Amino acid sequence: MPPSYEEPGARSQEPRLSVLRPVIEQITQHARTEWPNECCGLLIGTDDRIDEAVPARNLRLSPSRFLVDPRDHLVAVRRARASRRTVVGAYHSHPDTPPVPSPRDLRESTYPEFVYLICGPVRQQGPLPVRAWRLGREHFTELLLVMTG
Ligand SMILES: [Zn+2]
Repeated sequence: MPPSYEEPGARSQEPRLSVLRPVIEQITQHARTEWPNECCGLLIGTDDRIDEAVPARNLRLSPSRFLVDPRDHLVAVRRARASRRTVVGAYHSHPDTPPVPSPRDLRESTYPEFVYLICGPVRQQGPLPVRAWRLGREHFTELLLVMTG
């Protein structure tokens, strides 16, 4: 079954996610460094705000999938706890495709309510498109990304 998407558009109560601009810049830089493979990392913040990205090793070393190294995940969890925040999501890049969750992303996503920030296509010149999604039971819902700072 292909994943379904719910776009914010017409709803009056659009779910928002604010992200500090330097965090986005760090993520897109990481994506370009790892190209042609996918990059990945963890996102630290609160329910509707991300204020830090923690890069992780992609154990798959692949242009079409990622697996966060559990050791890096643990580092991020400790870092978040030390400052009374939580790991609220993960980011990864799409080397050749738009920043929309792939069927594999849905299949391999394991954390309900996690935010998935995706950037891509990385091979494209210029500013890298970034979109954010929240994983529900069976599909991703897009979040309105608001850049701050
Ligand atoms: Zn993906």
